[in-house]
Amino acid sequence: MTNRSDMRLIITIMLFLLALSSCVTAKNENVQIRRPGYSLTFPDGRYRIYTDTRVAADEHGQFQLMKGAIAAEKPLTKNLKVKTELLGNAQWGGCNMLLLTVNCTIPLKCRVWFDYKFAKGNWKFDRKGHIVAQKRDRLVYGVFIPHSTYNETHSVDITMELSSEKYVIIRYKDTIPISPTEWDSQTVTFGDAKSEELNTPSGRNIAAERRKRQRIWNENSNHRYFLSGMRYPVDDTRDLTSEFGYRRNWVYTKGRSSTDVHTGVDYANKTGTPIIASCAGQVRYSEYAAYLGNAVFIDHGMGLFSIYMHNSNLIAKEGDIVDKGDIIAEMGMTGAATGPHCHWETRIYGMPVDPRSLFFLNDLKF
Ligand SMILES: [Zn+2]
Repeated sequence: MTNRSDMRLIITIMLFLLALSSCVTAKNENVQIRRPGYSLTFPDGRYRIYTDTRVAADEHGQFQLMKGAIAAEKPLTKNLKVKTELLGNAQWGGCNMLLLTVNCTIPLKCRVWFDYKFAKGNWKFDRKGHIVAQKRDRLVYGVFIPHSTYNETHSVDITMELSSEKYVIIRYKDTIPISPTEWDSQTVTFGDAKSEELNTPSGRNIAAERRKRQRIWNENSNHRYFLSGMRYPVDDTRDLTSEFGYRRNWVYTKGRSSTDVHTGVDYANKTGTPIIASCAGQVRYSEYAAYLGNAVFIDHGMGLFSIYMHNSNLIAKEGDIVDKGDIIAEMGMTGAATGPHCHWETRIYGMPVDPRSLFFLNDLKF
């Protein structure tokens, strides 16, 4: 039984689809989908397009997802809903976390592409995304998005793709604008003994030590220890002697000097002050290295590591599982230090970010 309002609805939909098809065949034309439920055929299948999604078509009629989300029209994904959340701070030296929630409990492969855009070009890489939580009948996939202290990035394009064995199920894309940070500078002057130690670290294979730590902090494990949230690595944070991101001038004796970027935050106190795990995780490194001194690295999962340097004494051992708040070392001034302090650093895929930019982890709720 067809009445007049049904007919009006059908005509409206047909007109909309006609308008849509004329738009997407035009060269490089963007199409903004303002209402859900429409479908388009992409080279690798037929997809449902979500609200506020933008697609572009080239001169060959090939579509490209510019922003928003599309989902494959396969039995697995019937009535699939997609929700995204961006946590954290998009700022040089800061970090975001992208969460994508779907009402599908079959674990899917999650891949994320990062395309950082800075003044002199692009910098691209991809990483695995992981399941962060299960909420009743939904799975939450997540990925950390670090913002470097070195490249003056303007924005980063993030593409997250969930796929089964055969199909791309969901593709989500967004552009995150990154705000600049002002970096101050600091001069650190070493006395005779430290100058000698740092300039001629006797009998050490510095390159091998560097390779070893890079291998560790480039890992991207599927652990979810970071759900414990973050805290400071010392109880008393009043004596902050060096800020994250400082452009550093190192001055040694005999007229020698070098420059560097300070990739952590320094908290000074007495030798022997307890150094505390700032987040739950697995200890992956607990040993002496040139410049770092006695150092501990903890894997918190999904590419996030925290690092504690210059300790007088190491307590946690490689392989230990620690809780947030556990004592892992004692403060000292081993390695490149002019007084007892804790150099607290966090890295994501090996990229240093301000550890304090991760406090949003304390607000995670599933
Ligand atoms: Zn430091």
